[in-house]
Amino acid sequence: MQTEELAPPVNFIRQIVEEDIQSGKHKTVVTRFPPEPNGYLHIGHAKSIWLNFSLAQSFGGVCHLRMDDTNPLKEDKEYVDAIMRDVRWLGYDWGNKEFHAADYFQQFYDFAVQLVKGGLAYVCDLSADEVREYRGTLTEPGRNSPNRGRSVEENLDLLERMRKGEFGDGSRTLRAKIDMASPNINLRDPAIYRIRKAHHHRAGDAWSIYPMYDYAHCISDSLEGITHSICTLEFENHRPLYDWFLDALGLPCHPQQIEFSKLKLHYTMLGKRKLREMVMTNVVQGWDDPRMPTIAGIRRRGYTPEAIRDLCEKVGVTKSEVWTELTYLAECVRADLNTKAKRVMGVLRPLKVVLTNYPEGKLEELEAPYFPEDVGLPGSRMVPFGRELYIEQEDFMEDPPKKYFRLQPGGEVRLRRAYIIKCEEVVKDDQGNVIEVRCSYDPETKSGAGGEARKVKGTVHWVEATTSLEAEVRLYDALFTVEQPDNVKDQDYRELINPESLITLPKARLELSLAEAQVGDRYQFERQGFFIKDQDSTPERAVYNRIVPLKDGWAKVLKKG
Ligand code: ATP
Ligand code: MG
Repeated sequence: MQTEELAPPVNFIRQIVEEDIQSGKHKTVVTRFPPEPNGYLHIGHAKSIWLNFSLAQSFGGVCHLRMDDTNPLKEDKEYVDAIMRDVRWLGYDWGNKEFHAADYFQQFYDFAVQLVKGGLAYVCDLSADEVREYRGTLTEPGRNSPNRGRSVEENLDLLERMRKGEFGDGSRTLRAKIDMASPNINLRDPAIYRIRKAHHHRAGDAWSIYPMYDYAHCISDSLEGITHSICTLEFENHRPLYDWFLDALGLPCHPQQIEFSKLKLHYTMLGKRKLREMVMTNVVQGWDDPRMPTIAGIRRRGYTPEAIRDLCEKVGVTKSEVWTELTYLAECVRADLNTKAKRVMGVLRPLKVVLTNYPEGKLEELEAPYFPEDVGLPGSRMVPFGRELYIEQEDFMEDPPKKYFRLQPGGEVRLRRAYIIKCEEVVKDDQGNVIEVRCSYDPETKSGAGGEARKVKGTVHWVEATTSLEAEVRLYDALFTVEQPDNVKDQDYRELINPESLITLPKARLELSLAEAQVGDRYQFERQGFFIKDQDSTPERAVYNRIVPLKDGWAKVLKKG
């Protein structure tokens, strides 16, 4: 049955589906990804997308994209568009299987009438507070609504008038007549419809009542012929209610619900509600802020869809709570970019180096391959070399500790793919800051021309000063300073924001070849990490986001926080 070339990883959901196919219970697999368009998708959703689409794919089935758009007050077309963009970016295609719960509004209503006629639903006049009070608690049963005994005729009449908009918002609900004493609170006569005289982004002004999520969700699955309705664990105790609705309505298709645990990432808050609040209150600079765990943020940060899918696969599918470390995500990103990103040189915090014995005005060109041998991809560029260069400030120390093998007074380093230089003199400003290092170069040590025979301990990257491009570089770190920000109860999350989550370096210097880089191109700046050219770039001045450092800075930086 499987159509993927590589055997996908085994997980308990895949096993269930495989058994259902083998036993003949299902001939095909139909799954769905059912977001509510009330915000942008985040990396947790990516897991659900990956799971539903890859499952369907590997059994030759289909995966629907369904907007669970039953709450007009919170939803918006902007979010619908963003969701579609993000699912596509992750590499999935729903073909013509685009659905909207709002397109089922008439069917939902007809089914509600059917429940009323069967004595299985009633119009309740209790206010929201009263409903809560009547509901009981985990240890105490609820009490029946005084309207529970209403006749079918009266219920039909009231429901019709609710629909017509005769009653005020929240003044009445339609409720399922199940069991106010059920140990499962979801079965204590849950609401099916509420009155909301609100405009719906898709259905317009046709409705004054809107169905509740639990009612609409399971019916939508059934109407679409979903075979396996995969969701996260918090819906486990909603399953008996879904079963009740589908049985009460006698619907022919009864999807099997299977729950798995949510993806959780250290130092990250997920949950659209909170993410939206961060956007609206400018805690971050928008849904696509590269520090955000949204797909839009991840994309702008420079992570690849391949890396995200790889992460989902590696984390696996279970029913137990698993926290994923950020290093794990970073490793997936590095593994993917290692084989894709060209190596170039960029100096993030420049220090001027003047080669006193190199002819003034002379520029030579050194050939440098874009990829290391072990990656094995072709391509190279010419890198200009001259009398004035920049190196990283941290690659020079006037008074270094032992075992510092980079540049120091009287010491030598090799300039990557170029010559060995020796520090002869240090130039300082009035405050005593080193502003320039004057060096000699050894013309006998040219790399690639036999000059690599002479060895020194340190090699540093550099750019030629007069041809280099000035750029802004943005370094990112975790947005929060605690591992599980969602679980901090006694502090406002704004106090947990990492003040070093964004560090801007406005005067970085990049090698000339980057003049041809396009927005969205990814590179490895040697020794500094992987970077992507950001949309904030202008023709005069590029902006680069660091996607990930080459080694794990996370652990070190986060301990400080
Ligand atoms: P949020 O609380 O972030 O808004 P949600 O579950 O309310 O999440 P929906 O739009 O209803 O958001 O979710 C669409 C699908 O994504 C659901 O099937 C949901 O179970 C799944 N999902 C949401 N968060 C995660 C997560 N962290 N890991 C895996 N799946 C998730
Ligand atoms: Mg939700």
